[in-house]
Amino acid sequence: MYYGEDIVEEVRQKTDIVDLVGQYVNLKKKGSSYFGLCPFHGEKTASFSVSPGKQIFYCFGCGKAGDSIRFLMEYENLSFVEALEELAERANVTLPKEEKRDKGEEDLRYKILEINKQAALFYVKQLRSEKGKLGLAYCAKRKLSGESITHFGLGYAGKERDSLYQYCKSLGFKDQVLQESGLFSFKEAGVYDKFFNRLMFPIMDLHNRVIGFGGRVMGDGEPKYLNSPETKLFDKSRNLFALNFSRKSRSDFFILCEGYMDVISLHQWGFPEAVAALGTAFTEQQADLMKRFHSLVYLCFDSDGAGKKACKRAISILREKNLEGKVINLLPYKDPDEFLKAEGKEAFEKRMEEAKNAFLWEVEEKKKEFDLHDPAGMQKYMESIAELLRTNFQDPVERENYLKAVAREQMLKAENLQHLVDRGEEKTQLEFGLKKASGGKEKREKKNGIPRWRRSFFPF
Ligand SMILES: [Zn+2]
Repeated sequence: MYYGEDIVEEVRQKTDIVDLVGQYVNLKKKGSSYFGLCPFHGEKTASFSVSPGKQIFYCFGCGKAGDSIRFLMEYENLSFVEALEELAERANVTLPKEEKRDKGEEDLRYKILEINKQAALFYVKQLRSEKGKLGLAYCAKRKLSGESITHFGLGYAGKERDSLYQYCKSLGFKDQVLQESGLFSFKEAGVYDKFFNRLMFPIMDLHNRVIGFGGRVMGDGEPKYLNSPETKLFDKSRNLFALNFSRKSRSDFFILCEGYMDVISLHQWGFPEAVAALGTAFTEQQADLMKRFHSLVYLCFDSDGAGKKACKRAISILREKNLEGKVINLLPYKDPDEFLKAEGKEAFEKRMEEAKNAFLWEVEEKKKEFDLHDPAGMQKYMESIAELLRTNFQDPVERENYLKAVAREQMLKAENLQHLVDRGEEKTQLEFGLKKASGGKEKREKKNGIPRWRRSFFPF
């Protein structure tokens, strides 16, 4: 979406920067300016200034400066357009509607948002009612604090099969839009709530708007976790649970874990950086979304086989997107919730400090597949590492750095690993017909001492 300079200027003029910054920073007047502790760097004396005359902020400590839009972008990690839209709403400026989007479509999206919001409120009320005892008991069993329950807007879907439907009808919503919300099953025999007898986790977008739900069944029903289906609003692969909260943490990283309960537990224990994929495997789009805010991701998956598999998949996506991954070892515990309950916050912080570089973790995992006392097993193990090095790093310098690190850590000879990497590279080139199997050329290449894979990286 593009907004013209006129409308941007109008938003700027109708926003008082002292007022805006004052919402986030405690400001005191000194002369013609206001001063406070800089929200962008840690400090004990106030060097962050806001000028009402010029409508700008400037930090004498870290040099951050700009207007009201820039402040919101920096503070809330928003794009220019997002910050502008938020300020426009705050200042009661109506922005021109995107023309391309069809009006009916826009209207429908708005109505689905409204249904989701009403449903979330309905579930919250149910959790606090007589009917919600089962849900609250589960929260107590999992040791969720009242604050966490409120913060995440947890609710309860009762055992009746159509109470939300009846409630929405009473609010005047039409069947056609209710059908689009994904919260109901329309059958010949009648309309039923998709969620019943479940603890409800609202899923919010970056602007804290409810776009879908996850529900944990109370008791032993199947499936254990149920998510809203995809709707006009809800695209599972493009959202992360709790990103609306974690993006506001003052850290420069995320903690990616598996489920809703892991996330809530981590937040409760003082790790507001935690997010989770939404009942699907981690996706490239989710990585893109994270990259808008931070480039370091701690992976905090379950210690079992499924968790490791999911972790490996996430690592390859992070690498593809140029995000740094570090793997947190939770052993001997199954998941972060269990770990925190048994060992506490400091122990978890220590595990974060010790978190392993994602690639070195993968190598360590690979090792378990082979019998290293057997020379044939050792050979296969080394070949598989060479293959990982070859396929994961296109940049020769990066590849060499990793090769050296692996050799050091696994106590292997770097030359031997290098040899296997070279051999693999050559084989691939032959397979793809990129190189002719001529002895003469190879000899020449060996003489000048530059590894072949490195030469092959450059077109010259
Ligand atoms: Zn500063």
